[in-house]
Amino acid sequence: MIDLLLLGNGAMVPLPNRPLSALLMRINGSLVLFDCGEGTQVQMRKFHWGFRNLDAICLSHLHADHVAGLPGLFHTVANAGRTEPMHIYGPTGTIAVVQGLRVIADWLPYDMVMHELDDGDTFELLPGVRAGVRLGLHRIPCLGWRIAVDRAPAFLPAQARELGVPQTEWSRLQRGEVVTLGDVTVAPADVMGPPRRGVAFGFVTDTRVTPELRELVDGVDLLVCESTYGLVDDAEKAKEWGHMTLNQACGFGSEANVGGLWLTHFGGTIDDPALLAPAARALFPATTIGQPGLTTTLAFPTPAED
Ligand SMILES: [Zn+2]
Ligand SMILES: [Zn+2]
Repeated sequence: MIDLLLLGNGAMVPLPNRPLSALLMRINGSLVLFDCGEGTQVQMRKFHWGFRNLDAICLSHLHADHVAGLPGLFHTVANAGRTEPMHIYGPTGTIAVVQGLRVIADWLPYDMVMHELDDGDTFELLPGVRAGVRLGLHRIPCLGWRIAVDRAPAFLPAQARELGVPQTEWSRLQRGEVVTLGDVTVAPADVMGPPRRGVAFGFVTDTRVTPELRELVDGVDLLVCESTYGLVDDAEKAKEWGHMTLNQACGFGSEANVGGLWLTHFGGTIDDPALLAPAARALFPATTIGQPGLTTTLAFPTPAED
């Protein structure tokens, strides 16, 4: 189960009612932040998910509206009492940028472990949480993200009984251990059902739509995606600056068969993003105009939906 909170929905410069785009994820008590524009920590304080458990920060790219909030946030996490290492993931150049920002946040009571990622990399972000990235098409290297939580197959008690496994040994099998009963060996796979669908979301901002990104986020439960420009008329500007229009973002969500679409990273040419809702839903009905504080929980499907 993943909780998601959109902290901001702005692009380039923060506006009084449009903080810069950042997304917070919570799972099993851990927090992971996606992008950290100027003022992100103010939004984090407003919504009370805490600072101390911020285990990782994942960056799309290194433009200021996605990273300038880092040094202040580092201090606030330190003040919250964190001593465990914090992991930072981002594209090529992340180490140099974070080290530069650390000049004004030099002493911290926790270690910072930095990882620069390449196109197609996959890794374990947290225990049981898989992350994958693809390079998008922006003015500098920019990563699209897919985060997935797998679900363990169901334990089949009837199967275990049939194989003669006493109930006292069931938990060992559920933990993945092999159980030996006399000369019979029972493996976890012998008493587990078929693979079950987990949950997944995508975070894609500051890029054109590409086939690689479509593949990356194919079928996710939720896609959080930029819509820097609102109108078809701005298509040329979107192309020039490596962004999407609302029409392109909705088309992207539709083609990737996502379960839901949150639009964010609205540029200054959009006066009021909320007014775009009818047009967006006409293009892709599962679209929500992202506003600060928008939250959802991605839960494993109930047995009837499996
Ligand atoms: Zn941006
Ligand atoms: Zn950018």
